[in-house]
Amino acid sequence: MSNFEQYTAESLKLNEKHIPANIVGVCEKLQSAGYDGLLVGGCIRDWLMDKTPKDFDVATNATPEQVRRLFKNSRIIGKRFKIVHVHLSYRDYIEVTTYRAPPNSETTMRSPKRKKIGKHAEHVENEKGRLVRDNVYGTLDDDAFRRDFSANALYYDPIKQLVYDYTDGVKAIQQKALVVIGDPSTRFAEDPVRMLRALRFKAKLDFIISGELAELIQQNIHLMQDVSNARLYDETFKLFHHAHGVRSWEILQEYGLINIMFPLTQRSMEHNSSVTPFIEAALRNTDKRVGQNKPVIPAFFFAVILWHALQAKRSSMKSLPKGREGLFKAANAVFSEQYPRIAVPKRVSFIANEIWDMQWALEQRNPRQVARLLGNKRFRASYDFLLLRQTIDEVPVSLTDWWTEIQELDDDALQDAIAQLPNQNSKNKRSKRRRKRNKKPNHKQATNNKPLDAHGDINGNVK
Ligand code: ATP
Ligand code: MG
Repeated sequence: MSNFEQYTAESLKLNEKHIPANIVGVCEKLQSAGYDGLLVGGCIRDWLMDKTPKDFDVATNATPEQVRRLFKNSRIIGKRFKIVHVHLSYRDYIEVTTYRAPPNSETTMRSPKRKKIGKHAEHVENEKGRLVRDNVYGTLDDDAFRRDFSANALYYDPIKQLVYDYTDGVKAIQQKALVVIGDPSTRFAEDPVRMLRALRFKAKLDFIISGELAELIQQNIHLMQDVSNARLYDETFKLFHHAHGVRSWEILQEYGLINIMFPLTQRSMEHNSSVTPFIEAALRNTDKRVGQNKPVIPAFFFAVILWHALQAKRSSMKSLPKGREGLFKAANAVFSEQYPRIAVPKRVSFIANEIWDMQWALEQRNPRQVARLLGNKRFRASYDFLLLRQTIDEVPVSLTDWWTEIQELDDDALQDAIAQLPNQNSKNKRSKRRRKRNKKPNHKQATNNKPLDAHGDINGNVK
């Protein structure tokens, strides 16, 4: 067994109140059945940094099947990494993970316990040294050394109230130093997401990445291109939906990750100076909302991040149908291009589409549609999106003010406000007549290579 430090919770000034009783209950049940049951990872790190942990992970020497048998309300998930979700309530669960060994480690080879609990276990690497399956079980000290950073490798026994530290994790946290466990190049090659995690901990907790480590990340960042799009979808929300989105964006830019994760966005940023302020304003809002415990939805993030790519696509796609059909075709093309990098589920892209689609209606303010729009389940998100567009002058402030004010009105006042809107029918007839007179302008030519805000509305109609 490797050397390890042991601290009492008291000596580290850890406040027990931060750990919910049902989480302690899971550890207790494992221990009563004769297994280890320790809290591990980010929850202990956050706790030591005086932040209330958001999710808890339990480490044990019981195999996933043994854990599954012990907790009725549990299920085994994962391919690359078999873990057990133990349900605490209808919506809430805790992850219980069997101790694993680092691949090819000396301790792995020597560990007698590993053999005992790991007879079906396996490490599988692909030709680039990446771990594609990682189910070699190990001992507690093996498990500490297969974790990514020292700060993430602390264990806590909530029954004995002791912290176990195999990797100088307490010191790393006190110094806010991001220290890779093992050889950084090898660890990044095994799993390039570790680089992204390093950047996230810098954004989230102000961890310091040394010059040497920063250089190594810069040199290896291209490995991120091979990471599974499903994993990157999950990571995206850890980066952008946890109140440090603005900082995450800055850091990803610094390390050239925008181009890898959001290549279309990178291209639109290079061609249109409004894109960066638009995204930054959105991320600032999201950070604020998360800080106030208000809901945030993945679809809004993607609607923002791909908005200008959508405009570019609409301009460049040949023989795109007019109106909604054209919008959906262009949106489909944009999400298909984004997909190889980040697996945005259909249900999410569908809602992003709805937000985009509603922009046109909000701009039109058709008197016959206003009440229906206000009652639409996407109204709130679409209105927020319109406000963001106003910050980069894509729509006039008079329009956003109108939508802001109208939401405050009672029924009678709402009807009055709607009655004051210009009559769309006569407006439509007028514009139809005008279009006929001027011989219908070619929409494709009119919008080609120009940002939509200046030349057309969301449905490609040229004003
Ligand atoms: P947060 O929950 O704030 O995102 P976290 O460190 O808890 O941060 P999780 O994804 O919940 O992140 O992972 C729990 C623990 O599992 C980590 O603290 C770390 O010990 C280990 N871990 C997670 N991902 C990796 C990885 N890619 N390589 C090695 N260890 C990892
Ligand atoms: Mg966690």
